[in-house]
Amino acid sequence: MQLFDLTGKVALVTGGNGGIGLGMALGMAACGANIVIAGRNAEKAGSALASLREHGVKCAFIAGDVTRKAECQNLVAETLKQFGRLDVLVNNAGTAIRKLPQDYTEEEWHQVIDTNLTSAFLCSQAAYHPMKQQGAGKMINIGSMMSLFGAPYATPYASSKGGIVQMTRAMATAWAKDNIQVNAVLPGWIDTDLTRRARREVEGLHESVQNRTPAGRWGVPADMSGIAAFLASPASDFVTGTAIPVDGGYAIGM
Ligand code: NDP
Repeated sequence: MQLFDLTGKVALVTGGNGGIGLGMALGMAACGANIVIAGRNAEKAGSALASLREHGVKCAFIAGDVTRKAECQNLVAETLKQFGRLDVLVNNAGTAIRKLPQDYTEEEWHQVIDTNLTSAFLCSQAAYHPMKQQGAGKMINIGSMMSLFGAPYATPYASSKGGIVQMTRAMATAWAKDNIQVNAVLPGWIDTDLTRRARREVEGLHESVQNRTPAGRWGVPADMSGIAAFLASPASDFVTGTAIPVDGGYAIGM
């Protein structure tokens, strides 16, 4: 289907070596996109690349720590060097430190904000000029239910994810004239390494999510494939500045 055809396009997914990032990368690969996954863990990347290659697309892993500005810039530069273009940037890399607000150190605050929010700002800045030159681009930022709600153990995380939504809106207004669409996705509770740790740390989390989610289950990374394909493709060319929940109804339940 032409509306969702990504043949020949190149997508860079930070944290695409596992979890939600890989789910999104696989969705775009299924539509024909060549994929660059970025992260720190090369071993995880190896099995991610194997599953992406099953779609018959070209893909590569570029190692980088997105809390470092030079490495964010390098991810974009290396993508352009290896693939010749950059059509889609998914700012997905993220982390969480769960404590009560009064217990965080300043370093912990910065670790979460730098990983989840500043990295998205820096990667987007780096991707802007090549996308503008190409005459089109798609940026997809990963928010959270914590973009909408608070939790006692999530002060820096919720701050970063609230910031993702406002950053998305601001960039969308700036770059619409360059034919670059900037959107956010707000995943519900998805079964990944991040939330496996959350379930160990937050008592009763597994059951409370299951009970509150109208779909009656936790999400899986494959639930994120469709939204990635949509927001990366021509089907979403008039969609910009939005924050779309993909949450089995969590945000509209009681
Ligand atoms: P994972 O822990 O599976 O994935 C996080 C990814 O981010 C990893 O691939 C990791 O790669 C990468 N990453 C973390 N820190 C860095 C860094 N400094 N530099 C480069 N890469 C980094 O968790 P999820 O898949 O769950 O999380 C993905 C995104 O989705 C995050 O932004 C998270 O906040 C968000 N999210 C998750 C939800 C969920 O329920 N799972 C709900 C809402 C939002 P590596 O291991 O190689 O460092």
